[in-house]
Amino acid sequence: MRIDIDVAKCIGAGQCVMAAPEVFDQNEDNGTIILLNDSPPADQGEPVREAAMMCPASVITVVD
Ligand code: SF4
Repeated sequence: MRIDIDVAKCIGAGQCVMAAPEVFDQNEDNGTIILLNDSPPADQGEPVREAAMMCPASVITVVD
């Protein structure tokens, strides 16, 4: 699995961090997404896909 993010679209809503805290974090200053691991292990697939679905700004793309 590989993840792409478009930080410019992020509105800092934070759902991604709640869904997959091992893969996503938020910038302390403005709340925008920080990608901790762009190739997470298989056991993170479900939480990452959930994060991508929940994101209100379609920031997160799961490549495979
Ligand atoms: S859920 Fe989407 S908009 Fe909210 S912080 Fe995460 S990437 Fe940004």
